[in-house]
Amino acid sequence: MRTRAHRGLLAAATAVSAVVLPVVSAAPAGAAPDPRTLSQAVKAPAVKRHLQAFQEIAAVHGGTRAAGTPGYDASAGYVADRLREAGYRVTLQEFEFPFFREITETTMRRVAPSAKAYTRTTHFRVMTYSGSGSATAAVQAVDVKLPPPATPDRSTSGCEAADFTGFTPGNIALLQRGTCTFQVKAENAQAAGARAVIIFNEGQAGEGRADRRGVVGGTLGGTTVNLPVVGTTFAVGKELSAPGTVVTLTTHTEGDPKRRTHNVLAESRWGDPDRVAMLGAHLDSVPEGPGINDNGSGSAGVLETAIQAGGLQTRNRLRFAFWGAEELGLLGSKHYVAGLSAAEKAGIRLYLNFDMIASPNHVFGIYDGDDSDRTGSPAGPAGSDKIEKLFESYFRTARQPYTGTDFTGRSDYGPFIAAGIPAGGLFTGAEGVKTAAEAAKFGGRAGVAYDKCYHEACDTIANISDKALRVNSGAIATAAFTYAYSPVLPGGSTRSGRAAAGGSGRAASGGGGLGHAHDHDHAGVPS
Ligand SMILES: [Zn+2]
Repeated sequence: MRTRAHRGLLAAATAVSAVVLPVVSAAPAGAAPDPRTLSQAVKAPAVKRHLQAFQEIAAVHGGTRAAGTPGYDASAGYVADRLREAGYRVTLQEFEFPFFREITETTMRRVAPSAKAYTRTTHFRVMTYSGSGSATAAVQAVDVKLPPPATPDRSTSGCEAADFTGFTPGNIALLQRGTCTFQVKAENAQAAGARAVIIFNEGQAGEGRADRRGVVGGTLGGTTVNLPVVGTTFAVGKELSAPGTVVTLTTHTEGDPKRRTHNVLAESRWGDPDRVAMLGAHLDSVPEGPGINDNGSGSAGVLETAIQAGGLQTRNRLRFAFWGAEELGLLGSKHYVAGLSAAEKAGIRLYLNFDMIASPNHVFGIYDGDDSDRTGSPAGPAGSDKIEKLFESYFRTARQPYTGTDFTGRSDYGPFIAAGIPAGGLFTGAEGVKTAAEAAKFGGRAGVAYDKCYHEACDTIANISDKALRVNSGAIATAAFTYAYSPVLPGGSTRSGRAAAGGSGRAASGGGGLGHAHDHDHAGVPS
């Protein structure tokens, strides 16, 4: 991260100010309007009102706006209505995705030989597509290898129906990770009459992914298993393999492998359709909370910018996207980019992403599109550097410090940079912890997470930095209005081979950073 403090010499006002701007219906011939002047139409109270609307939507829909829930659909309806009122052509782009959630948190405790409570996430986690139920029963180990086999030999626990010869129906099956999928193991246990399944990690020590001792998480691939199924650490599994062990395991889940959700897309009626400047934010929250900072904040900033740009006869075409199912692995933006023709891709000259712009213990992070920080992921497609510089210039003018944030591709700009489209954006930090140097530069509290409510029920309207929301909404508006009129755009008509460097297949960042990896999706850990 950068540590330089950037203090502008000009006494410029913060872009989102109280100045009232008349609606500009057309640019004077030959002169583009000043983006900073236009951006003053995007006012912090209006952005905050959108956040209030998202909060109220969550409150009447079970406290969440997650993809596939009524809270998401209501959020999308709200956004679509505002965009239509502002004059946009609005499209709801549907796609299918695998839905799963815990309706209530899974619990596991040992009742014999002595009572012991286990902690969700630390000791165990529910398998994606686990069924619902509550079982108190004897734990019966099935073909487990203790101590664990040396690599490359693997446990085959539960992989064959024959493993369950001698299994007592009604018991809880204790299985060890290895060889076959979690789905196969759980289906075999179900067929043998198990009331619940515990799959523990295999046990080998190693570096990184080779270490098989932590909590094992994964997917059962679909809704074929109707029993509670959890993954645990190796240590918990070894403990539960002791004779005479009785466990109570309770899950309450909802799974649907073919649920539908949608992106909300808004297209301006003005501007050259072959010169598109696109802005986006994910609209879905996680099931655990209302997602007001993550990512009501980015959605609200982009929405208010769109509303204020609605009547402008711009040179270039503005397009706005509110993505669904980002939290499940960038599913909405991947679906959108995968459906673009080569010509449509070439027409998108840049993509700007806003995912968490008002973290309560914020920094002002700008995606490091040119890899000038030389940390983590490489630079984005050519032109990403220019977008980063535009945001830097905004923060200097606004006399606010800023820092780089690694260009990992782990939010909705990922599919765009993988397609060679230059991208940039803002990020104020997630579950990462603010350093003393950052606290000195940005204020706030060192040693505390940027967003202590990240992916939690407490990510409410109270979890917002009004200052960060105001400053970053001004940045969104300034970038949108700059690219709406600029005769030169970051993405040229020819794309260089650097696009490949932005491929989504590259390794995840090893660097530190602000968190919000968004790689916590329920994708299966291979058994
Ligand atoms: Zn997010």
